[in-house]
Amino acid sequence: MAALISGIHHITAIAGNPQKNLDFYTGILGLRLVKKTINFDAPDVYHFYFGDELGAPGTVFTTFPFEGARKGTKGTGELTYTAFSVPLDALGFWMERLGKYNIPFSTPLSRFGEKLIRFEDHDGMGIELIATNKDERKGWTYGNIPLEFAVRGFYGATLNLKAKELTEKLLTQFMDYRFIAEDGGRYRFGTKGDPGDIVDIVIDPNGRQGTQSAGTVHHIAFRTANEASQLEIQQKLIRNGYQVTEVKDRNYFKSIYFREPGGVLFEIATDEPGFAIDEDEAHLGELLKLPEWIESQRSKLEARLAKVELNVEKYA
Ligand code: ZN
Repeated sequence: MAALISGIHHITAIAGNPQKNLDFYTGILGLRLVKKTINFDAPDVYHFYFGDELGAPGTVFTTFPFEGARKGTKGTGELTYTAFSVPLDALGFWMERLGKYNIPFSTPLSRFGEKLIRFEDHDGMGIELIATNKDERKGWTYGNIPLEFAVRGFYGATLNLKAKELTEKLLTQFMDYRFIAEDGGRYRFGTKGDPGDIVDIVIDPNGRQGTQSAGTVHHIAFRTANEASQLEIQQKLIRNGYQVTEVKDRNYFKSIYFREPGGVLFEIATDEPGFAIDEDEAHLGELLKLPEWIESQRSKLEARLAKVELNVEKYA
């Protein structure tokens, strides 16, 4: 049977101050703001989508930022680190850049034969940059990051769990993932095993449960080609006892959600139709975009949302 899932679609985190959040992901990391909208389930909170030029699946990190959000804590039952892929010789550039903006970062670590650095955004969101020559995506340049060092998209994500068996079963039996390798207690899974589809499980049997709020991940979305393949995976999961939601229309993709046995919220999102559905490709992210059903409340919502601006030129 053809694979229904082909890797990571997007990862969504909760954040604090919207302007700081915007500055960090566009200005410092050099991602493009490809959509500025609202949380469809909580319309007075922004939903920012950051990604490559067009927000291709596998590059999109999204946030629900709201001023005054209390800080969450990292722990079990959570996606604790989101890893982006950078070119093999790019870590020096990134260490210098993070230093310039006073972002503390780890010394280079080794994992499965590759080097990475680890740091956090303003809210404590765990980020890794993994230097790899296995990423065939051509990358893009945005802001002031030279293309030769720029983020290529996601490398993968780390799930911190009390046990791995049930999550491993879900991934490998029902979600087209396979076990790839183990390194120092880190269990790697992938659809192909390439940057953009990696899920690592780290087991922490006695760890404290994480608390979800600013600086923690809300959910990870996996990609499926279209609405037909989404219905197929939805039915397959339901048949096997998972509590999956109905299909929700997220304007830029369709989504279903369910909680994996270790506690992390999983989503399966369609590759279609993408972010150019309601904005010209050259102007993605410039205007506040609202779904049709809430457009009539635009002035009320705009009055409640903090004003934000793109400051990419300030991050030379
Ligand atoms: Zn999502």
